[in-house]
Amino acid sequence: MQAAPFHPPQRTLMGPGPSDVPARVLAALGRPTIGHLDPEFVAFMDDLKRLLQHAFRTANELTLPVSGPGSAGMETCFVNLVEPGDTVIVCQNGAFGGRMRENVERSGGTAVMVMDRWGDAVDPGKVEEALEAHPEAKIVAFVHAETSTGALSDARGLVELAHRHGALAIVDAVTSLGGVPLEVDGWEIDAVYSGSQKCLSCVPGLSPVSFSPSAVEVIRGRRTKIQSWFMDTNLVMGYWGSGQRRSYHHTAPINALYGLHESLVMLAEEGLEAAWARHRRHHLALRAGLEAMGLPLFVAEPVRLPQLNAVSVPEGIDEAEVRRRLLQDFDLEIGSGLGELAGRVWRIGLLGHSARRRNVVLCLTALESVLGDLGARVQRGVAVPAALAVLDR
Ligand SMILES: *Cc1c(COP(=O)(O)O)cnc(C)c1O
Repeated sequence: MQAAPFHPPQRTLMGPGPSDVPARVLAALGRPTIGHLDPEFVAFMDDLKRLLQHAFRTANELTLPVSGPGSAGMETCFVNLVEPGDTVIVCQNGAFGGRMRENVERSGGTAVMVMDRWGDAVDPGKVEEALEAHPEAKIVAFVHAETSTGALSDARGLVELAHRHGALAIVDAVTSLGGVPLEVDGWEIDAVYSGSQKCLSCVPGLSPVSFSPSAVEVIRGRRTKIQSWFMDTNLVMGYWGSGQRRSYHHTAPINALYGLHESLVMLAEEGLEAAWARHRRHHLALRAGLEAMGLPLFVAEPVRLPQLNAVSVPEGIDEAEVRRRLLQDFDLEIGSGLGELAGRVWRIGLLGHSARRRNVVLCLTALESVLGDLGARVQRGVAVPAALAVLDR
């Protein structure tokens, strides 16, 4: 049998995730594996939880990294809170709202969809209408930062609206955590999930989640058993809960958790506000460069996400060929459009560690070169100076 180690190329990751993983995080992954009930590991878990609470800005006791990607965190929120027969208002303004609907229906609930155009924010007026038409609604679920389009919704306002109508709020913060302001306690979010590989710049495969005390009360008061054994927070907390003896639930992904811990330490060292400002500054620089070149951004300014930039593909350009050349000639990955936006936009991520000067300069240089070669009408030689002027302002 043929067998050889795999040596991946060194890429620059500017797609919708994973983002560039800093050397410190990669080094942390290689530290010695110890037992998941080792007293040293148990103390480490407490510290990891404290760092997660800091990143989420919450004091929620039920805060932990689910052993699985962002989708597992999403599912954890839905299976714990949705019981058969429940009505959930699901806001969809991109790809991920559709997955929320799947989660509601597979949990036996009824999803009332509030649809907005891809690229727009969730419209609170439509959500309010849905809440009025469905006074039985138990939950409002929405995506804070829609990675499929690059639109930011008003999480604070939507949570407030849900509460005014007696509903809980489930918030997808997979792409928002660490990139834009997110205040779990300040905005009184009931259940929130994120991912390790977006603005936290850790490796993929972990999903930080947090449930408020009122969400925990709703889970405790369920009439039916949670259909997922693995994601049942009552069982998971036997391992992750504090003040009690830790008991085996499943083997934690120990080394991956070292990586998440390191990325959260880096975030704490930088400071959350400074990280938000860094995303914004590099977004403004990238935008200046793209616009100088003649490439417009797809999402309207007021709801534009700094960490995910949807760029309209110029007329007559094969967007997949551009991405292929960026990867082959520049080791640079950017994302394609999803769903309705397939073929119409590129998605350029400035997630976490990817929101750096070198990445902005590389991306603009490489795009200009590839688009020029393919005969697109782009302004040459102006993008990088425009971007640097913003960064050096
Ligand atoms: C990436 C993403 C997810 C899914 O995360 P995975 O780690 O790929 O499972 C969910 N929601 C949003 C908004 C995302 O960007």
